Amino acid sequence: MTLQEPTLQPAMISADEAEAGGVLTIDLAAIAANWKRLSGMTVPVECAAVVKADAYGCGIERVVAALKKAGCQTFFVADVPEGRRVRAVAPDAVIYVLNGLMPGTAGAFADANLRPVINSPTELAEWDAFVAANNWRAGAALHIDTGMNRLGLTPEEAVAIAPRVQAVGHGFKLIMTHLACADTPDHPMNDRQMRLFRELRILFRGVPSSLANSAGIFLGGTAHCDLVRPGIALFGGNPVAGQKNPMRPVVELQGRIAQTRAVNKGDSVGYGACWIAARPSRLAIVTVGYGDGYPRAAAANKANGTKSAKPSSNAIVAGKLCPVVGRISMDLLAVDVTDLPPGAARRGDVATLIGGAIGIDDLATAAGTISYEILTNLGRRYHRLYRD
Ligand SMILES: *Cc1c(COP(=O)(O)O)cnc(C)c1O
Repeated sequence: MTLQEPTLQPAMISADEAEAGGVLTIDLAAIAANWKRLSGMTVPVECAAVVKADAYGCGIERVVAALKKAGCQTFFVADVPEGRRVRAVAPDAVIYVLNGLMPGTAGAFADANLRPVINSPTELAEWDAFVAANNWRAGAALHIDTGMNRLGLTPEEAVAIAPRVQAVGHGFKLIMTHLACADTPDHPMNDRQMRLFRELRILFRGVPSSLANSAGIFLGGTAHCDLVRPGIALFGGNPVAGQKNPMRPVVELQGRIAQTRAVNKGDSVGYGACWIAARPSRLAIVTVGYGDGYPRAAAANKANGTKSAKPSSNAIVAGKLCPVVGRISMDLLAVDVTDLPPGAARRGDVATLIGGAIGIDDLATAAGTISYEILTNLGRRYHRLYRD
């Protein structure tokens, strides 16, 4: 099988790119297209963008600028420093900080014109005091926990504050909750949380509401409320596990082959001598490892010849899918290129580790994790290219 290998234009190869162990390409046009697609699915509901954790590892400034250009006006981040970075590139955007109000930080929210997501009665009291003392009017979101048991007021706490919030025209611009099982459409939690949130919304009449993350959007119109909050789907992750991914891939990772070597049948490869060649083999040693965020758990976990509990991840070399073999080192991994024509894999060639037939969800599955973790661990040593 010949796979289409994403290739770099020779003109784009700069000196430091040749020196880097890996080249990470982030397709900003794909991020914008993914946002437009989700936004189109949810019309007339507002489509925001979740850009926490450095925009899922893709680079908050570049991503926000691209999304802003696509028409996105509301962003969610995890903390105040991330909020400031969004503010620097999106002076007019609405920015919510999901982790809420840390003690003594209300002034920092106001300085950067950020809206805290209020997650507890204690945060509410501190924010109220700040708002009253400073006549601050930019608003906040109220997060009610409907079953996730992570952040947010309990339903009882929300019911208790509702009359006061309504009476004083509190300035909440959004009430929100978060689904625990949105990526499992049939999970009973979805219905339970959506029903509870519907009841709670009535108590905050006139305040826009938000429930859906990426997977929540695919639960259909009843989950959309007034604003949707996609993250992973913008960055090419499959929003509904087990179904065909409707999103455009965003991230491409290419490692470089440092050397190729021949091993004899019976030779072992890598730390722990975990992989043993079942035939005379050729290996390509690629300059990407777990120190670059390539998950060590992506290696097969049994020696060749014995039955592996799970298959290894793959690399695309010379257009063909080849297995990663042996343990993944900090800076290196080995690819079995025995099935390629002789001379097809050479020193200096690239090996695609994410891209083409290898989606972020495929690598995540091989490592027993999720695409979110693959993206947010993307290494800092790569030479980064942004495609517009
Ligand atoms: C991270 C997060 C999102 C985005 O979730 P995805 O699954 O990446 O779409 C939405 N809402 C909250 C509260 C979050 O923490």
